[in-house]
Amino acid sequence: MNAPLTQPLHFHPPHDDAGIARRLRGAVEGEVLFDRGSRGRYSTDASIYQVLPVGVLVPRSDADVRAAFDVCRELAIPLLPRGAGSSQCGQTVGAALVVDHSKHLNRVLGYDAAAQTVQVEPGVVLDALNAWLRPHGVWFPVDVSTSAQCTIGGMAGNNSCGSRSIAYGNMVHNVEAIEALLADGTAARFGPESEMAGGSGRLRALVDGLRAIGERERQEIGACVPPVLRRVGGYNIDVFNPQSVRPYTADGSVNLAHLLVGSEGTLAWTRELTLKVAPIPAHRTLGVVNFPTLHRAMECARHIVELSPSAVELVDRTMIDLARGNPAFRPVIDGALTGEPDAILLVEFVGETADGPRKRLDDLVALMGDLGLPGSVVRMPAAGAQKALWEVRKAGLNIMMSMKGDGKPVSFIEDCAVPLEHLAEYVDRLTEVFRRHGTRGTWYAHASVGTLHVRPILDMRRDGAIKMRAIAEEASAMVRQNKGAFSGEHGDGLVRSEWVAWQFGPQLAQAFAQIKSLFDPAGLMNPGKIVEPTRMDDRTLFRFAPGYRVAPMTPALDWSAWNVHNDPATETLTAPGTGEDPARGFGKAVEMCNNNGHCRKFDAGTMCPSYRVTRDEIHLTRGRANTLRLALSGQLGVDFASEPVREALDLCVSCKGCRRECPTGIDMAKMKIEFAHQWHKAHGSTRKEALIATLPRWAPWAARAPWLFNVRNRWPWLARLSERTLGFSARRKLPAWRRDTLRRSASEAPMAEANVVLFVDTFTHYFEPENAHAALAVLNAAGYRVAVARGGDSRPLCCGRTFLTAGRVDEARAEARRLIAAVAPAVERGATIVGLEPSCLLSMRDEFLVMGLGESAQKLSGRALLIEEFLAREHAAGRLRLPLRKLPQSRALLHGHCHQKAFDAVAPAVAVLELIPELAVDVVETSCCGMAGSFGYDAEHYDVSVAMAELSLLPAVRKADADTIIVADGTSCRHQIADGTQVTGAREAVHVVRVLQRALDQGSAQNATAAGP
Ligand SMILES: Cc1cc2nc3c(=O)[nH]c(=O)nc-3n(C[C@H](O)[C@H](O)[C@H](O)COP(=O)(O)OP(=O)(O)OC[C@H]3O[C@@H](n4cnc5c(N)ncnc54)[C@H](O)[C@@H]3O)c2cc1C
Ligand code: SF4
Ligand code: SF4
Repeated sequence: MNAPLTQPLHFHPPHDDAGIARRLRGAVEGEVLFDRGSRGRYSTDASIYQVLPVGVLVPRSDADVRAAFDVCRELAIPLLPRGAGSSQCGQTVGAALVVDHSKHLNRVLGYDAAAQTVQVEPGVVLDALNAWLRPHGVWFPVDVSTSAQCTIGGMAGNNSCGSRSIAYGNMVHNVEAIEALLADGTAARFGPESEMAGGSGRLRALVDGLRAIGERERQEIGACVPPVLRRVGGYNIDVFNPQSVRPYTADGSVNLAHLLVGSEGTLAWTRELTLKVAPIPAHRTLGVVNFPTLHRAMECARHIVELSPSAVELVDRTMIDLARGNPAFRPVIDGALTGEPDAILLVEFVGETADGPRKRLDDLVALMGDLGLPGSVVRMPAAGAQKALWEVRKAGLNIMMSMKGDGKPVSFIEDCAVPLEHLAEYVDRLTEVFRRHGTRGTWYAHASVGTLHVRPILDMRRDGAIKMRAIAEEASAMVRQNKGAFSGEHGDGLVRSEWVAWQFGPQLAQAFAQIKSLFDPAGLMNPGKIVEPTRMDDRTLFRFAPGYRVAPMTPALDWSAWNVHNDPATETLTAPGTGEDPARGFGKAVEMCNNNGHCRKFDAGTMCPSYRVTRDEIHLTRGRANTLRLALSGQLGVDFASEPVREALDLCVSCKGCRRECPTGIDMAKMKIEFAHQWHKAHGSTRKEALIATLPRWAPWAARAPWLFNVRNRWPWLARLSERTLGFSARRKLPAWRRDTLRRSASEAPMAEANVVLFVDTFTHYFEPENAHAALAVLNAAGYRVAVARGGDSRPLCCGRTFLTAGRVDEARAEARRLIAAVAPAVERGATIVGLEPSCLLSMRDEFLVMGLGESAQKLSGRALLIEEFLAREHAAGRLRLPLRKLPQSRALLHGHCHQKAFDAVAPAVAVLELIPELAVDVVETSCCGMAGSFGYDAEHYDVSVAMAELSLLPAVRKADADTIIVADGTSCRHQIADGTQVTGAREAVHVVRVLQRALDQGSAQNATAAGP
């Protein structure tokens, strides 16, 4: 290994920050972010490192990047290109001006069907590109796991590789040309060397210099570049003497774009890329091979690849168990197993006809018989089953990453690549190394190419750095012995650049330094990566650097579940509250975010609606978690309850999307309640916040004089006044108060006899009592004895949600206690508590459990269900008798409330709607509707709120036929739909229980007709 720099990578710009920011603002149209919060949010990626950048530029155009380069060159400020920042090795962390191309430079520029190429800007996200390409019948086949968020520029920067690299190669095999900008301002198209040779001046000197290095090092390249497919460390100097088992070009000719691929932003800025595309395979099939031991699986991998699969992916016993622990995944994984295997290999075959893959699956079955494992293959020809199993593999990794405590699975030898014949021995020996260091790893991923992912659990605040080096030393010795690559997927960055000289030898390391200075003589491009590295274990560069401390805090909610230590060898946790967190677990909960960037996804799911609208790092779950962590640890230089933190949380709509979809379980909605509580303690409530929070208390008065309270909706000048004085948007109508609120009805059973207790929330009670009537009608029709939960005084019960939103946790707790006391006898008796409004009912299963409400809250959480969950459960158990009849309409379009999605309660809503004969149910693939309680009524949030709804919900509703029933269980979702369709053709959305009621009434109407007059 060459001597790494001993100086840490902290750069002190020769000019003051304000001066640099001023210069940049004068030169560019994009956003120039130099505040402490923004710099902090860009100081980390999915690695263990953290370095404060000089500042951040979010360029609007290519011209912005050029202008910024000019300023930085003049002021000698380093530059750091960045996409999604999902690198695992610290590539995008550095004391430089970070240039984030992901927000604006993300267009597909052109598609050439004849040449099978596509031209893109660097910020286009892989999944977005593939969605664009799909209608052409092609895809970009470098299918990395972070496809939902990673950008093509970042993929090229890291020479990324996907699960199917055995069939399609790495990034370097799929890039044809790169339009690049050098730090000195030179712009050039890098492609086949033959096309570049005729250049002049700077470019000519560059190309000649590179060629000279290539010729000089020809022999050394042959001797020192590992001849494996998965080798992504160092520069791709083997363009001059091909070493990869899959050549970069068909004829072995030199393409200088390939030298930029994998250069981690250290040579040039990528402005545009020309990529090769591949036809989407017409047919896929999957064989799951079950092995008695991991060792056996690894031994067999090399024989399996002889059958030309498109992927061979490993899932080990730990992952299998994790998946089986999840009720949703258990049937999927069980369907792939024969007996109790220690490991499985997912072997995929693709082809243009169904016969090809089927035949190769037969070959796999025969091969396993020959290898002494007859009957070990489970065939999975159905696309749905295949997809479900791939999802399980992903989810297993997510569960692993959600480990609580300071020990975390750390990525630093996660992607060593060894030739397949040595894989079994490598796995055995490394497992033993982990054991000796008191830890263990879970193995998964790309067995086809000898790149097995494994992350030992290390505590980077304590002895992690020492163990990391010791394990890396031993792993590297094994990699060398086996002629493998130390970096087979994730690149060099800060964690592995010091290993570049070790891997390639001093002579090639010297050649890399020369390549770097030919491109970037002033050393401005992403310094400290690949060449002139820092030490991997330089703790001053760690996110949890020496001296990292969380300030003491007394949280309002109970975060003790996070306040634990873990045992890296057994993964067992200490008791809640024993983790020594001065913020009593809140600090550790916030620190769970490992910056993997999954919250940047745009496809399915909910997370994160505000980012989907603004595309700003500050409005991302990750940006928020980082802001909280920096504030709690004193790195923002302001109090926790301060404006920069409030700003980061402002557009969080508390949808709980992250609670379900973030791999590490970041629950920002709950964190926002905690912040709001601390803010409220320090600053009090505004008039609007107080008005909304206390609504359950003054609602009875409003219901006595609804005309008075509703007048604001009729008189525009009053709406404008309410905007000026209170902050309610004049462009919104507020929910209309009703005089006919929910009264006691004859159909209610006494509480003591009820087997179902209906909890009617404040919104249903005062604004839409017909939903409660419908619920009573449906439940009674099904034969349940239903009581309505009522408080001892005249005021209806409330879950406390409005108080929680305002951070008034004590008042919310008082409401919750009142509710719990009212329903406790029924809960004790085993009755089910059923509710209608997802955010209210589901708080009994969520926030109630962290509000210090004791055992009765636990019991309630076990019996509280949304009405659709209850009915679906009863139906599944064969107990539901509902005389539902066909409706005049034949379609329903369902929009799931975010909290319904977070608690898996959309499927039950679909299930109960499908009980109605001949009703076809479609679910709108939506994120948040944008109304989110009171969020959409705020004047300052109105535009964002509408933009969220316009992402998919409102277009889908507008597209629906006039006789399609629009179903939405959330009060605010229904309001957003009504508001958003006012101009284009009003649509009313209804609660699922109203649709059921109509289908019941339909029955009575038909009976009445049948009976005759
Ligand atoms: C959970 C998880 C799973 C992962 N799985 C995979 C996987 O399956 N396969 C894989 O290969 N990787 C994987 N990665 C690593 C990472 O996601 C990929 O390398 C990804 O392609 C990086 O894309 P990005 O947009 O986040 O790039 P960034 O991290 O933002 O940047 C990557 C590098 O490219 C450089 N760069 C970015 N833009 C430019 C530009 N315009 N010009 C010049 N240089 C530029 C940056 O400086 C940096 O050095 C995984 C990471 C995580 C956290
Ligand atoms: S918030 Fe969750 S999804 Fe987003 S980066 Fe952090 S860990 Fe990943
Ligand atoms: S709660 Fe919703 S809006 Fe808030 S960070 Fe999570 S996903 Fe984003």
